[in-house]
Amino acid sequence: MNIGKLELRDREESFINLNPLQTGGRTTSDARKAIISYIDGYSICDWCKGALHITTEPDIAGFLGEVSDFLGMDYALPTNGCREAKYGVMHAISTGGSILCDGNMHYSSEVSAERAGLKIYKVPNKGEPEYKINPEDYSEGFELIKKETGKYPELALLTHVDGEYGNVVDAKEVGKICNDYSVPFLLNTAYSSGRMEIDGKKIGADFIACSGHKSWAAGGGNIGILAIKEGWQDKVFKPGANWKSKPLEILGCSSRGASLLALMASFPHVKERVKKWDEEVKKARYLVNELEKIDIKQIGEKPKNHDLIKLDTPVYDNIAKTHKKKGYFLYYELKDRGIIGMKAGRTRKFKISTYGLSWEQVSYVAESFLEIGGG
Ligand SMILES: *Cc1c(COP(=O)(O)O)cnc(C)c1O
Repeated sequence: MNIGKLELRDREESFINLNPLQTGGRTTSDARKAIISYIDGYSICDWCKGALHITTEPDIAGFLGEVSDFLGMDYALPTNGCREAKYGVMHAISTGGSILCDGNMHYSSEVSAERAGLKIYKVPNKGEPEYKINPEDYSEGFELIKKETGKYPELALLTHVDGEYGNVVDAKEVGKICNDYSVPFLLNTAYSSGRMEIDGKKIGADFIACSGHKSWAAGGGNIGILAIKEGWQDKVFKPGANWKSKPLEILGCSSRGASLLALMASFPHVKERVKKWDEEVKKARYLVNELEKIDIKQIGEKPKNHDLIKLDTPVYDNIAKTHKKKGYFLYYELKDRGIIGMKAGRTRKFKISTYGLSWEQVSYVAESFLEIGGG
């Protein structure tokens, strides 16, 4: 269907979508209703009390309290996304020193650090074929920075689950090292919180950044969460000098619309779904097992601990060489079977996600990939 020149989108309704960026942000029906009811500009401000995060109709203040408990943290604010949460922390902390990050960090962490004036150091991953981050390497990184700059870094960042391999790093180990060195620890949970249970206290995180539209079944725009530990509110949630209810780092009110309502409407579902994380991991492992029966190899940690799966697929690359649709054949073959979410034209290396699919769908996806590969 079209509205003028605008083609309306139809994906989750009619297809099995494997796009890792999108599977955890697939909205619930409650979120869809909330989005429509709060679709008009500034409708979230009907009962404004001076700032978004203290609003009680709708009960944003209450929701933020529940979210910080859910994450094992003490305070939370809404942000426009995970990157804005990370940038807020970095900007509040930075005095122009350095930050130690993992080598699998997302580009948005890198540009946030750059914008906050922090010099970036990286803990490299261990290379092929698993590209793992070794938590102990954070100590080495801290020492190296001390040697080079005379000071330990002002902040450490860990990408809990990276968007390239879907590797899950032991955040608690990194947290322990950061706490030993008294370096504040920012955990990027864009691909973890909202999918799996996160306990910031156990992990030893000072700050947790979340992505609502990636992993908390929220949509209707961008939405994130910044959760912090007791003791940091004066620095990170500091209000404007003349605007005592407006936190500086979120420019007073951050995400002021339907996407925050979507996050709130999906939250009861998210609280339940994180308990079923083990089942999600089983689905990913099952699919990898099936696909590796033909000339396909999973890249990244083995066995998988996450639904984001990176594959190296010589089998499809070989077919593309002689196929009349060239590299596009895979996209069309899958689409004919009702499966989408792959970049059209890709046949050698790509990423998929099994998150939220039923077992029936997962086995149908496995069968389809095998059939297309001639297996
Ligand atoms: C997607 C992603 C982000 C960005 O999330 P936004 O909420 O869109 O800012 C950050 N980090 C990682 C690891 C990601 O995969």
